[in-house]
Amino acid sequence: MRSDPADYELVAPGSLTAVVSLLADRPGEWLPIAGGTDVMVRYAAGTLPARKLVSLWNLPELRRIDVLDDAISIGAGCTYSDLREHEIVAREFPLLASAARWTGGIANQNRGTLGGNIVNASPAADSLPALLVYEAELILVSTRGERRLQYVEFHTGYKTTLLAADELIRSICLARRFAGYSSYSRKVGARNAQAISKVCIAALGRIAGGVVEDLRIAAGSVAPVPMRLGETESVVKGNAIDAALVSRARRAAVGEIRPIDDIRSTAAYRSAVLGNLVAEFLLGLGADGHSE
Ligand SMILES: Cc1cc2nc3c(=O)[nH]c(=O)nc-3n(C[C@H](O)[C@H](O)[C@H](O)COP(=O)(O)OP(=O)(O)OC[C@H]3O[C@@H](n4cnc5c(N)ncnc54)[C@H](O)[C@@H]3O)c2cc1C
Repeated sequence: MRSDPADYELVAPGSLTAVVSLLADRPGEWLPIAGGTDVMVRYAAGTLPARKLVSLWNLPELRRIDVLDDAISIGAGCTYSDLREHEIVAREFPLLASAARWTGGIANQNRGTLGGNIVNASPAADSLPALLVYEAELILVSTRGERRLQYVEFHTGYKTTLLAADELIRSICLARRFAGYSSYSRKVGARNAQAISKVCIAALGRIAGGVVEDLRIAAGSVAPVPMRLGETESVVKGNAIDAALVSRARRAAVGEIRPIDDIRSTAAYRSAVLGNLVAEFLLGLGADGHSE
């Protein structure tokens, strides 16, 4: 059943300080809304429990990308279009730029924010494997001050997070240390645009002296939360890429994920596809390494 607008209150205090004060006054009563591309789906379906919404849209403190010497700080209110169009994001963090390009359609990319994707906590969220691979750090803010948290710790289970009721994500910090890595990402869905992933993957690797010196692989839609494939990484690291290693990596990847059957796909399909994607990434990485 659709919701009745008369049942809802929406305020837009216009500054980050004012929003966190409101959240602190009555923790849990006000639901932040940024682009609204997740919140409004629940509103339209009549399943949004919150009745009081506080807008984060276009807060200047959340809508900026700061490029420092050793890191980039992305405001949580930056949209996918902001990310796609940013030169340093495109050049140094291509996995995030490609996730931004294939999230929803253009209208969605103009409204949907990175902070919203993180807090909405869908296992199928497209930008989250990239954040795992780049080992992102989250900066959380409340009237109690700021705290920093590794993104990998943030999702504690299906749709659960470490965000306190009076806190916001202010920014997402990525270290600028991935020059020289080969990157690989794929989204497998029912079609190329406007489809939630059946499986998505983001990966980085670097070959030195003929062996895999560093490797990072993360996947979405294969477990209750987006996950790093740590066992697969361990199988591969320190070895030269050949057919036998690719087979072992494929088996390790399929062994460590926990996919389910749901309306979009089956566990068996997700396992088979993820194995294929890991193999494709490693074969490409091996070919890149040989051409160095
Ligand atoms: C048509 C359509 C297609 C879509 N396609 C994709 C897709 O391909 N891939 C994909 O990953 N997602 C997709 N989505 C989901 C959605 O667009 C993303 O998850 C988006 O990033 C949500 O951002 P938002 O700003 O719109 O979040 P909102 O809807 O405003 O908020 C979502 C949640 O995050 C919280 N929140 C937002 N910002 C903050 C903050 N700074 N601090 C604390 N809490 C915050 C809100 O309280 C709410 O709980 C799609 C949605 C639609 C409607």
